[in-house]
Amino acid sequence: MTRPIRLPAGMTTPRKTPTGWDSSVTIPQDEDGFFGRECPAKDCLAYFKLHGDEYQAARKVGLLSCPICGVRQDDQTFLTPEQVKRTHAAMMELAHGAVEDAFATAFGGLSRSNRQGGVTIQYTPGPLRVPRPLPTYIERQTIRTFTCPNGGHRAVIYDLLTVCPYCGPDTPPRAVLDDNLAGMSRVLAVVEELPEEHRREIEAAGGVTSLAERALSGAVAAAQNFAKQLHTQSGKPTTVRNPWQNVTRLQEQWQASFTTSPLAAWSAADVRLLRLGFARRHVLEHNGGVADERYVSESGDTIAIGRRIRVRTPFVREFLAAVVRLADAMEAATPRLAAYDVSPSTGGENR
Ligand SMILES: [Zn+2]
Ligand SMILES: [Zn+2]
Repeated sequence: MTRPIRLPAGMTTPRKTPTGWDSSVTIPQDEDGFFGRECPAKDCLAYFKLHGDEYQAARKVGLLSCPICGVRQDDQTFLTPEQVKRTHAAMMELAHGAVEDAFATAFGGLSRSNRQGGVTIQYTPGPLRVPRPLPTYIERQTIRTFTCPNGGHRAVIYDLLTVCPYCGPDTPPRAVLDDNLAGMSRVLAVVEELPEEHRREIEAAGGVTSLAERALSGAVAAAQNFAKQLHTQSGKPTTVRNPWQNVTRLQEQWQASFTTSPLAAWSAADVRLLRLGFARRHVLEHNGGVADERYVSESGDTIAIGRRIRVRTPFVREFLAAVVRLADAMEAATPRLAAYDVSPSTGGENR
């Protein structure tokens, strides 16, 4: 006589298989239908959320990308620690149920005795074990959601975006750029929205300058990454040297690949602004922000060599706008790409 296996809420009705029992465990979603994921790369571990509606299609591919560091691997390795705990608890519940079932089956559900050298062994099944509820948890609050133009994939992210979790290397580069520039704008705005006393305190600690420098670096990195991706996705071979490091080399590379410069129609002032932003980022990253000869010649800045450069919020705002114009100009100077939403260039995993 077989008694039914009792499992806690959140597990599907168990199925008897030739080798044992089978059940699956649900992953709770927040009120908007999102659930958490965690990047499996040990040096990243970024937390993000995906939407239940779009995840099924991705499961068929079996691959997911971390939106923050871009690592792409088996989607089953992206469970959060809370989800792992819940899954382990579910496995234990299923194991308990299976053991009870095995005993009940072996002894027919009744007590039996057996004589072995004069010793009586007796087994009496006790009352069925009450299943332990699975651990639950609350996902992090949604602050900003990235929506991929390639199929409307949604991802709630808590850091700078690198790729769409589903599209990975095929993510439309402009979508990544726009998302990052929006992030950098927020970085600049956040201090201004603080109450006066907090704002002054952060300012005195160098925080306003740090955030402006951070936003500038982020914007330059986003622009360089955009140039690289657009270049690659246009079918041009990957360049050996880094041609995205400064505006002159970027122009030269575009000229060589597409026989046109994205900055051909720009005013001298706009080009100067762009150069200054790229050069400031370079000197911040590589020379502690101290102006050297190379910086002065590349940027056109009039600062004396040896002085620490100053990056102020209004400059970064102007630079962000210039990067948007650069992106528009680069797209205009690039052969039209195949429409992303019609035929993904590789894999077709979004269908
Ligand atoms: Zn990652
Ligand atoms: Zn996508």
